[in-house]
Amino acid sequence: MSEQRVRAGRAATVFAAMAAAAIAAYQFLPEEGWWHAVWQVGIGWAGVAAILIGASRLPRPERLPWWLFAAGVLANSTGIGVAAVSAEYGLVDLPTPADPFFLGLYPAAVAGLAVLIRGRDRRVDSAALVDAATITTGFGLLAWVYVISPVQLGDLMDRWARATQVAYPIGDLLLIAMTTRLLRSGGSRGAPFWWITGSLAAFLIGDCAWVVLGNLGDAGEALAETPWFAHALESVFLVAFVLFGVACLHRGAREVAAPAEARPAGLGKGLLALLAGASLIAPAVLAAQTASGEVTDGWSIAICSAVLFLLVVARMALLLRHVERQARQVRELARSDELTGLPNRRAWNDELPRALERARRNSEPVAVAILDLDHFKKYNDTYGHPAGDQLLKAASAAWHAALRDVDVIARFGGEEFVVLLPDADAGDGRRAMARALEATPLGQTFSAGLAVWDGVETSDELLQRADTALYAAKAAGRNRVETADQPSRLAA
Ligand code: GH3
Ligand code: MG
Ligand code: MG
Repeated sequence: MSEQRVRAGRAATVFAAMAAAAIAAYQFLPEEGWWHAVWQVGIGWAGVAAILIGASRLPRPERLPWWLFAAGVLANSTGIGVAAVSAEYGLVDLPTPADPFFLGLYPAAVAGLAVLIRGRDRRVDSAALVDAATITTGFGLLAWVYVISPVQLGDLMDRWARATQVAYPIGDLLLIAMTTRLLRSGGSRGAPFWWITGSLAAFLIGDCAWVVLGNLGDAGEALAETPWFAHALESVFLVAFVLFGVACLHRGAREVAAPAEARPAGLGKGLLALLAGASLIAPAVLAAQTASGEVTDGWSIAICSAVLFLLVVARMALLLRHVERQARQVRELARSDELTGLPNRRAWNDELPRALERARRNSEPVAVAILDLDHFKKYNDTYGHPAGDQLLKAASAAWHAALRDVDVIARFGGEEFVVLLPDADAGDGRRAMARALEATPLGQTFSAGLAVWDGVETSDELLQRADTALYAAKAAGRNRVETADQPSRLAA
């Protein structure tokens, strides 16, 4: 690890400790004066500074997402100061001068996340998109029914005030969509990844708490004005401000945006639970409204349910396609030899009876040969096992090239290979084997037993004759091809 990265790693710890102390101290500041506003803005700006310092240590092309996060935190935390000053001047009606600052977080963070996710997943991941859409649709219905729709119905506020109030839940929804997409992305999941996720979660939890308070009526208002509670809630946002900085100062910050390598596909338990929960939001809202005696959002619930069902079906189709692709790969793997890439014994055992059946139907001859490298054990002992592997690869490729396209060569096991020669009699078979012997690389040789099918014997009997001929070839001094005698059959 480079000197600079070690220092950067320590910087994250130091900054996190200082920020934690500042947030702890925040709970005990004097209630009067500007203490709280100044302290919050100060922590926000410190978070921005941490992000900028961390980003300056990254290669130039990798700084963009962090700059966007910094812009979001800067806008949001500055908004606290603007809100305090405007309250002093009585500017409390929506939209307040602070709202554009607060809202600035959403586009900046969403854009930063988009860049980050793009860096991690270079390819479009349809399953991840469907998951993010499912979760966002579920929460979207909640936001619509309990936050956005009531605002739209209220006739006390003017258009700008309503738009401002609606902008927050929409910003949160976008943030939820991007956060779930980030969680579904491939790539590193080191500490910085979780610091970023933690920051986003803190923003979302804070916003949700405000929504819940807003829906609690007088009790909510009372709670919001209780100092210890208000400061605890404000601290949730302070945590959100600093976590981006901790992530960016961390020595693993670079890896967060690095492209994913292999990612385990499929559905983890947590994701499955989240998708199930999101899918159940629509029926739950319907049940809640039915129980309260009046279904006010029937259309919204129907539309969301339909979208959720379609998303689930889409997810199923994607998963099925994935499983089918894997099954095909497994089938192929099960039938080929790992080292040489040739068909393996299993594939050969399927192929031979079929070839005999074809030969019978077409009244054609068919021959098989078993070939076995000579003194391969000695080759291994002399040059080493890896060199032996290389010989097996090179030899099988050379034999394959020396044979006709219709011929099949398979690895039977060890340094033993079998060859199927359709439409070949003993003479054709001997010529083919002579070509293969000639092509054997690295000065090596093989011995082979050749047998021509007699038209009635089984695959096993045919192979047995070829094997006997191979023994004869070895016994006769190797580096040669022996042809098996035609079987003497009582019936023939
Ligand atoms: P012969 O001429 O009688 O065939 O002698 P041989 O040494 O070729 O035959 P033997 O059966 O005594 O030895 C075969 C050797 O092949 C022993 C085994 O270690 C080696 N072998 C089997 N499979 C592999 C493999 O996948 N890779 C390598 N490198 N060696 C293998
Ligand atoms: Mg052998
Ligand atoms: Mg051998």
